[in-house]
Amino acid sequence: MFFMEFFRQHNKCQHNHITPDMECGYCPDCGEFVQNEWYIVRCSCCGVKRKAMLRNGEVVAQEGFCHNCGGKEVIVEKLPAINFIDIQFAVLVKRVLKSEVVTNFTQCWEEKTLNIPKLLPLFR
Ligand SMILES: [Zn+2]
Ligand SMILES: [Zn+2]
Repeated sequence: MFFMEFFRQHNKCQHNHITPDMECGYCPDCGEFVQNEWYIVRCSCCGVKRKAMLRNGEVVAQEGFCHNCGGKEVIVEKLPAINFIDIQFAVLVKRVLKSEVVTNFTQCWEEKTLNIPKLLPLFR
């Protein structure tokens, strides 16, 4: 919910100068610090990757149902880095980081580390 509100507030500038090959940087058009984040969507039933898209600032699957098992529920995963296999499935979110968020980067990193054990079963 927080993320969706965050996105709506900053949807005026598309940050077109922050290109997908960059990790992050200050947008020359609006001066915000923008971080490129890549997300993929997996079927929560069988775990196959499904093509992701953005709808109202939320990462969702492009098709309504899994092509492999017909499942509807999906899991959204943030990628640590984009690669040429995932790029056909992934969606790019240009996230504006407020200065407080940048300062708290260490804390964000710890949260990410804590999430890893939860994600591991997906790769079995
Ligand atoms: Zn901008
Ligand atoms: Zn499936």
